[in-house]
Amino acid sequence: MSNATDQDHDFLTRVLALAQRSRDEGHHPFAAMVVAADGTVIAEAMNASSSDRTAHAEMNALRLASQRHGPEQLATATLYANAEPCAMCAGGTYWSGVGRVVYAMSEASLLALTGSDPENPTLSLPCREVFARGQRPTEVIGPLREDEARLAHAGFWKK
Ligand SMILES: [Zn+2]
Repeated sequence: MSNATDQDHDFLTRVLALAQRSRDEGHHPFAAMVVAADGTVIAEAMNASSSDRTAHAEMNALRLASQRHGPEQLATATLYANAEPCAMCAGGTYWSGVGRVVYAMSEASLLALTGSDPENPTLSLPCREVFARGQRPTEVIGPLREDEARLAHAGFWKK
């Protein structure tokens, strides 16, 4: 597995702050960014599942990115997320053509925080298992900085 670069850590810092902002604005504490290989931000988004249960932060960012660029251009882009993409968002990553994912908190750690909270009945399927079924590789780096990633979730979920 490749290691996270300094640029990866810079964008993780930004996405962790954005997840806190999502919570502060009354949404679930999730955020995502799609960033080109040269560091250009293509899209960033927070969670919006209070109005659309499929509006996970990653899906929102991937939709914006896909409206702006085709899969060939997104192949070298990276999706940053404060939590591991769920099965839906891993599927969205695959279909958008984004070729690389860097996340902070694992789905297993998120599940430990959310428990059976009906607001987020965590779909516990590692994103690597979804990507492994695809017809082209998706590089995945994570979990990273999980203690830091938990902060935005502290006291949020009713287990
Ligand atoms: Zn998701």
